[in-house]
Amino acid sequence: MPYFSKVLIIDDDVATIRLMADILQNDHQIAVATDPEEGFRQAVKQQPDVILLDVVMPEFDGFSFCRKLKADDRTRKIPVIFVSALDAVEEQARGFELGAVDYIIKPIDAPVLKARVRTHARLYRQTIQLESLAATDPLTGLSNRRKFNEVFGREIERVNRNKLNLAMLVVDIDDFKSYNDHYGHGRGDDCLVQVARILRKTAGRGVDTVSRLGGEEFGVILPETDMEGAQLVARRIMNEFTSLQLEHVMAREHGYLTVSIGVGVIEQSTCCATKISERALMDVADAALYRAKEKGRNRLEIEFLT
Ligand code: GH3
Ligand code: MG
Ligand code: MG
Repeated sequence: MPYFSKVLIIDDDVATIRLMADILQNDHQIAVATDPEEGFRQAVKQQPDVILLDVVMPEFDGFSFCRKLKADDRTRKIPVIFVSALDAVEEQARGFELGAVDYIIKPIDAPVLKARVRTHARLYRQTIQLESLAATDPLTGLSNRRKFNEVFGREIERVNRNKLNLAMLVVDIDDFKSYNDHYGHGRGDDCLVQVARILRKTAGRGVDTVSRLGGEEFGVILPETDMEGAQLVARRIMNEFTSLQLEHVMAREHGYLTVSIGVGVIEQSTCCATKISERALMDVADAALYRAKEKGRNRLEIEFLT
């Protein structure tokens, strides 16, 4: 079934809304708002694929409204098409400068409106799909390293700005080379998918990010989490592997599949005079992981960034 894209029409004139809705309703889901406040609420809630925005409205002009949409993360990317009787080139240019993708001049011409809305809705859907592909690890469906770096950078920035706690886990499968050697690469891939599922289940609090960093190594970002909280999540992961006892006859220690976890923690009570870098937290988590491996695997180690 083709995707029925959503169009939000914001216009103070009910007759104009009705006219545009009539033209578009066979091809799109339509939401409408007659004032900017309601329009903004709808934009956030409905996440339309296109916003048709009147330029001249009594309380709030369309240009200011567009600026507001572009300043908010929840609405920034939604394509805005201005609809206006003001046909001066300067007005149109101003619309484009504010980040609109198109400008339609009243009186409305049905085929033009249809075609432009269809084009921008389709482009927007494609952009969203591409962005999602670029952020996803194809094997496990987890977010990939690129996405991880993006989220991690944002969280570190928040830590520096607001003096928050932050924890991250690096989870590495134990003896995975011998798993592949013994069971074959295909079963190895299946195993990675299974591990991803376990991590998502045990560490998937809404704000947490679980990513595949590469190979058989996974990263978990735990925003606003202290050592105890991070340890709890890491333990939950370890426990899940203990109770599942997934077969791995070549595993050096246990005869079943296990992971080692390095926990890196920033706690504001003990950290940090200077600005923190992503690298610094990653390094302490890596050092903790290295220790866990050295001490015999199937364990978690914690290290603070000080
Ligand atoms: P350790 O307990 O010290 O972590 O040892 P290890 O064998 O897990 O670690 P090592 O880094 O020596 O080997 C990692 C192995 O993971 C190498 C490769 O066979 C396997 N691997 C990496 N990426 C993939 C993948 O995408 N699919 C499969 N099937 N195997 C992978
Ligand atoms: Mg490993
Ligand atoms: Mg590894």
